[in-house]
Amino acid sequence: MMRMQKISHKGIILVFTGDGKGKTTAAFGTALRTIGLGRRVAIVQFFKSQKTAEWKPLLRLAPSCRLFRCGGGFTWDTARKVNQKVADKAWRQCRALLRDKKYALVIFDEIHIALRYKFLKTSEVVRALRGKVASQHVILTGRGAPKSILRLADLITEMKCIKHPLSKGIPAQAGIDF
Ligand code: ATP
Ligand code: MG
Repeated sequence: MMRMQKISHKGIILVFTGDGKGKTTAAFGTALRTIGLGRRVAIVQFFKSQKTAEWKPLLRLAPSCRLFRCGGGFTWDTARKVNQKVADKAWRQCRALLRDKKYALVIFDEIHIALRYKFLKTSEVVRALRGKVASQHVILTGRGAPKSILRLADLITEMKCIKHPLSKGIPAQAGIDF
């Protein structure tokens, strides 16, 4: 006889890291899944200056989703002050979202990059994640996730680059890369 499995809900922390392509798109794919259940998603994108094509359909499907793009680009040396401001603003959003029960899933895209360049304190991010709404799922993306984030995570997937068209000189493609 099959035993009934008890379904219990626990918010989990997912990390998508590594040097291969697929971190941000995996996060957006998961967002779609959550939206499909009629649940709310919030996404904060660190240092994204350009809109990628998935934003429009996502908002059309789920107008209740919150999408924050904190542009600034990757001109780290010349515009460190600007980027610091951008990161501070993005992090304020993140902190508020982690305490907001309305959102079943929150995604902090490229947050590891902000941590690596010390725009954010890892200890502060860890503290905020520990204090998040218990039922909320969180996805953190970006290459080079710090060790303390890896320790805290419930799920870690490392995208490993085996081959990338750029190495053959093939540039980023619409619909695939943006
Ligand atoms: P995606 O947004 O496509 O899921 P990602 O989030 O895993 O990619 P990022 O590190 O955020 O990857 O880089 C974004 C861009 O850089 C994408 O256009 C992607 O094709 C490109 N890219 C990712 N990995 C590599 C790689 N190993 N070599 C060259 N370009 C890469
Ligand atoms: Mg990415």
